[in-house]
Parts: sequence; structure tokens; C-alpha cells
Amino acid sequence: MPGFEIFGDEERKEVQDVLDTGVLFRYGFDQARKGNWKAKTFETELAERMGVRHCHLCSSGTAALSIALAACGVGAGDEVIIPPFTFVATMEAVLNAGAIPVFAEIDETLCLDPEAVDPAITSRTKAVLPVHMCGSMARIDEIKDLCERKGLILIEDVCQSLGATFKGKGLGSFGQMGCFSFDPVKTITCGEGGAIITDNDQLYRTVDAYADHGHDHIGNDRGLEDHLFLGNNYRISELNAAVGLAQLRKLDFILEKQRAHKQVLKEALGNTPEITFREIPDENGDSATFLSFFLPNKSRAREVAKDLARAGVDGCFYWFDNNWHYIRQWDHLKELRTPARTFARLLDHCPDYWGVKLPESDRIMSRTISMLIKVSWTHEDLSERIKKINSVL
Ligand SMILES: *Cc1c(COP(=O)(O)O)cnc(C)c1O
Repeated sequence: MPGFEIFGDEERKEVQDVLDTGVLFRYGFDQARKGNWKAKTFETELAERMGVRHCHLCSSGTAALSIALAACGVGAGDEVIIPPFTFVATMEAVLNAGAIPVFAEIDETLCLDPEAVDPAITSRTKAVLPVHMCGSMARIDEIKDLCERKGLILIEDVCQSLGATFKGKGLGSFGQMGCFSFDPVKTITCGEGGAIITDNDQLYRTVDAYADHGHDHIGNDRGLEDHLFLGNNYRISELNAAVGLAQLRKLDFILEKQRAHKQVLKEALGNTPEITFREIPDENGDSATFLSFFLPNKSRAREVAKDLARAGVDGCFYWFDNNWHYIRQWDHLKELRTPARTFARLLDHCPDYWGVKLPESDRIMSRTISMLIKVSWTHEDLSERIKKINSVL
């Protein structure tokens, strides 16, 4: 996830454009900004790339999720089905909306299992929020079919998989909305930033206003804008957008490098009988930010993760023990521990998260190791890496 590996003159120029005008705000100041619309330009270019009508750039991936949930009318007491392998932001956004995260199992795609979603649906289910983890995809066609059959909203968390596609269609464009993150460690970065894409004109208008206190953004006089409704401030600044714009224009280069490097590592690991690879529903659409693979059992996976670290193979993650992405160690979530008074806690139908059992996800995650793929690796770096990996496996 390496946008930060390749900052250069392109980012510097875009930022300089903004500083030269003094206009850091993304709306208005039409004269002073001298034609610089970094956020707007980013939105146009990402929407075009994703083949959707609209994109809205905002302050983070978490903000994108919050805006998407609000715009789709998901809130007070609604249940939202999410996977237990994600980043805490997914469930924070659901809880902050006043809704209740309901966990369903993942499958060997490392993403929400469509067959586990169906039994998790209740009369309160409003939305399904699959997360395309570690650069690749869920069985999104099946999840989409299910949502359509059941009349559920589909919001995709694509924060980790920008540029990945399923059968040629960009991830994030399957449901009502797709959410992206451009935080400092994502495929491309704005420093901090996020985006929402949608094909729905009405939803887009809601998103654009909601992310800026409900302002309608019509006309040039900011002081006379209407409030369409109550909103929030999830705006991005032109400085952040400027960095992101330069990065977006490097996305094809990043994907090409990641895919090539991943292929080399995959071939090198392919001869190891104890390893099987993560299931990828459409190999051609993989954004290749990670190479994820399974060991035969938990103890062997733990051992291999330790040995890889000892051998100096950096960027390897055993998520089962790591606190970032798997529910197992999220005691704060299970207690709903927060300084805010969480709405979910007041609801009778809020589950006791300590009691949530996810044996299939445990079985998969306890055997999974992911290796981060870097853009800047040279041939020598790769051969050195393979040598170290072979010394372990
Ligand atoms: C990074 C991430 C987010 C949140 O994005 P931020 O920009 O850091 O707020 C949400 N979901 C997933 C899966 C992520 O990896």
C-alpha cells in the first residue's frame, strides 16, 4: 500500500499550485483560485476511472463510510452486516451512525462470505457492508444479487483495494455506494482523505451537502447558500486533494509494479507444498497490494510468521495475533467502550459481542499470513527476499 513510496515533483507541483493561490478551501473563491480545483479535478478523474457518474472526496475513509451510511438513510437501530476481518473504522462508522454492526463469517477470499450473509439477515437489517480486504475482492456479484433479492442497501468498503476490479468493473461500483481511503498507508494517499462513489444523482447530492453541513453549494455567495438538512464537516482541504491528485495519476504505475512483484513472489512460494493461496474471485482484477496465503494450521502459521520476521522478511502480517484487522482482540468493541454514550448500547437488540462466535473466520484467519507488496522493490530486493523466504519455508 505504497503511495508514500513514490512522492515526487508531481505532488510538489500540485501542492505549490494551491499555496500560490492561497485558497485552501475546496468550494468557492472562484476568482482567487485561478482555475485550481484540486478536489473537483480528483473527483472527475476518479469517477471516470471507476466508470461511475459521481465521486465525492472527503476527509477520510472513515468519513466516507459515515457519509455513505447517512446518505443511504442507515441509522438508529438498523442492523448492518459486516465482516470480522476489516479495520475498526468499519464498525465505528456503523456504531456512530446509531446502527448495530452484525458480524457474518468470511470465506477464503478473506472477505464477507455471501452464504453467511443470508442467515444473518433479520427484519432490522438495512444494509450489507462488505470489505474488500488486502487488495482483492469479495464474491461481490453474489453479495449484490443477495442484496437486490432482499431489498438491502449495499455499501462497499474499498479502502484497501483501490484500482481492483471484478470482471472488469471497479470495486466500489457494485452497490449504492463505494468508499475509499487515502490515508498515509493506502494504495494512494492524500495525507488524509477518502472518497465515495455512486451512480445515483440524488444520493450524490445528498453526499455532497451532508459532508459540508448540508450546504447546497449552489451559486457563488457562500453566505446565502441553503441548508438542505443538518450535516457534518467531512471536507477535504485543497492541499490534501492536491497530493491525492498527483497520486491518482500514478495509480496505473503502482498497480503494474505491485502485480509484477506479487507474481514473482507467488511463483517463488508456489513450490512450497504447505502453502495455499487466498482465493481471488477474479485474478485479473487483483490490485496486488498483498500476497496472502494459508498455512496448514494455526501453530504452523504462527511459527512461520515468527521465522519470517526473524529472517528479516519485513511487511509480513499474522492478523490473528495482530490488533489491527481482526475482531479477536478487539475487547474495546466487545465492551462498546467509548467516551461517547453509544446509542447501540441503549438498544435491546444490540448483541453481546463477547458472545459472537465466528469459528470459520477463526479457522481461516489463524492460518493466514499476508505479505505487503512494495512498489519500489528492485530485482535485487526481490531475489534477496525470496532467498530469505526460502530459508524459512
Ligand atoms: C483504512 C481503512 C478505513 C478507514 O480509512 P481512514 O482514511 O484511515 O479513515 C476503513 N476501512 C478499511 C478496511 C481500512 O483499511
